[in-house]
Amino acid sequence: QAKAAGRNTVRFFDPMMQAAVSARLQLETDLRSAMGGAELFLLYQPQVDEPGRIIGAEVLVRWEHPQRGLISPVDFIPVAESSGLILPLGEWIIRSACEQLRLWADQPDLASLELAVNVSARQFRDPEFVPIVLRILQETGVNPQRLKLELTESMLIEGVDLVISKMKLLKAHGLGFALDDFGTGYSSLAYLKQLPFDQIKIDQSFVRDVLDDPNDAAIARMVIVLAETLGLKVIAEGVETQAHCALLMELGCKGFQGFYFSHPVSASAIEQVMRRPTLPQASQSRRK
Ligand code: C2E
Ligand code: MG
Ligand code: MG
Ligand code: MG
Repeated sequence: QAKAAGRNTVRFFDPMMQAAVSARLQLETDLRSAMGGAELFLLYQPQVDEPGRIIGAEVLVRWEHPQRGLISPVDFIPVAESSGLILPLGEWIIRSACEQLRLWADQPDLASLELAVNVSARQFRDPEFVPIVLRILQETGVNPQRLKLELTESMLIEGVDLVISKMKLLKAHGLGFALDDFGTGYSSLAYLKQLPFDQIKIDQSFVRDVLDDPNDAAIARMVIVLAETLGLKVIAEGVETQAHCALLMELGCKGFQGFYFSHPVSASAIEQVMRRPTLPQASQSRRK
């Protein structure tokens, strides 16, 4: 404690805090030097429709740290946000996703695939965000309809009007928007009717126990009905078993993403699956 250190000593950090701060700084330094290199790469997690077809994928960034191994985006995206590195990183992610879409666009069996890219709050707030996205689309020649941006409720807290106007600008060019982790943030319902989303993602925290917890099942059903009423598509995240999938289908869900269908995989793995579909069938009945 600062006081215990003596009256002439000012200590702002106890040793544990100091260790945490320097670990974070080290991570930031390492992330800075990883930018633009092969340590950072993208995986793609298939999104599946009711008959079990892959309609697209969510883009998920990965960092293979030379000493520490794979670091979760849950751990390094916040560092990227607080350091500002999210701006170049986020731009690289969108550009890479568009380059992938561009490659798929020339192949008949892959051309209809859509990619959903996560956008962080600070990235979306950047005044350059809209011009950057439009420039990337133009430079890669990608059909904007193939690109969807995932936003979370957390970024709606400050300046909803600005969020709406940016969304509308991008939507006018054909981009789609998904509301990620729905139900985990604040004041969802009031914003939902104002914001021009195309899709709601039911958060995996509700999906996980949907079979055993009647409250989670009620929330899932509510989100599905709400989406239908508002004319939005719905996709359930974290679908891990066939039983999850079957129950969600009974509740009226028509889009699915989760380990039951596929973990996040490389782009070439997606291509292989598209050419020779081997995913479990969503349409199998849970009841024998
Ligand atoms: P998210 O956008 O909600 O992504 C879904 C997360 O759930 C992914 O974790 C995915 O691997 C995981 N997941 C998918 N299916 C299942 C399942 O069946 N069971 C379980 N338990 N988990 C499943 P991941 O890749 O570790 O990403 C975590 C979060 O990090 C993402 O949550 C997103 O908020 C953020 N993130 C990931 N990639 C990016 C990115 O490129 N940019 C930004 N800004 N954030 C990203
Ligand atoms: Mg997401
Ligand atoms: Mg999510
Ligand atoms: Mg999440």
